[in-house]
Amino acid sequence: MAEILKGVPVSNRIKLKLTEQIASIGQTITLGIIRVGQKPDDLYYQNSIQKMCAAIGMHCQIFEFKEDIQQSILQAEIDRMANDDRIDGLLMFAPLPHHLNSAELANRIPPTKDVDGLNVYSAGALYTGDQNAFPPCTPAACLALLKFYDIPLEGKHCVIVGRSLTVGKPLCLLLLNENATVTLCHSKTKSLSHQCQQADILITAAGKANLITSAFVREGQTVLDVGINPDPEHLGRYCGDVNFAEVAPIVKQITPVPGGIGSITTAILSQHTFEAFQKKNKKT
Ligand code: NDP
Repeated sequence: MAEILKGVPVSNRIKLKLTEQIASIGQTITLGIIRVGQKPDDLYYQNSIQKMCAAIGMHCQIFEFKEDIQQSILQAEIDRMANDDRIDGLLMFAPLPHHLNSAELANRIPPTKDVDGLNVYSAGALYTGDQNAFPPCTPAACLALLKFYDIPLEGKHCVIVGRSLTVGKPLCLLLLNENATVTLCHSKTKSLSHQCQQADILITAAGKANLITSAFVREGQTVLDVGINPDPEHLGRYCGDVNFAEVAPIVKQITPVPGGIGSITTAILSQHTFEAFQKKNKKT
């Protein structure tokens, strides 16, 4: 049976360090959350971020807007937050209502405050290796977990399933920076099971429950399951992309869902906000 790579010890270590750092600085560090409307997923995520911030002594400020807000008004609000020195990091919940141009709005957030690394400037910085921006939190959470469990990356073959801007593509660059060899798979990849079997480290972010079965894995592999999907067998519960019951007895190490990568993401968000605060203060 595989070693279960739980996310909680990883996030606890990050939280503990941040708590000490924030207490020793004795200044207010603020994460701003931009939320349009009242989507249950957004409110759930907001609640978990607020809890995280409260636990480590970080200030979390919610900027809430009505569902029908005009682009120009929201843009002016974001510009105001971007120029407000009291706000260290900004996270805008997505997707936004259809009448809003999300990319244009996200690009108003300066890379120094874009703590979920989702706008075009942050993506460019990741691509070029510029240290003045942040990678998206979920791929950064994958790296944090691999480092926590001392899983070496140099020279390893990492296969990623999923090429989204939030997970797969930035993760590919982060792993390349660690000197891994990366294969990036997607829905048009031929012989996905064969590709997955070649991996030393397999990371799935496809959003498809039970996509990765025993036919996709082999002994000795490390498997990170980023997927968070409605569990087809248990109403109201969540599962990953990996058929855990089939895969866990075969591979060397595996992350659970829930309790794996997802539990590290908000800790990384706080860490990025703290780093944004530090960088701002170095400049002044
Ligand atoms: P997207 O829908 O944006 O991207 C999914 C990717 O998976 C696409 O590149 C798609 O390929 C690929 N894909 C879909 N089906 C298959 C298939 N059958 N075979 C191979 N590739 C496939 O999803 P996200 O990246 O936003 O999210 C992916 C999963 O990760 C979701 O379950 C989401 O809930 C979860 N997630 C978890 C987070 C966490 O903190 N743990 C944070 C963010 C997401 P193509 O490009 O060809 O369409």
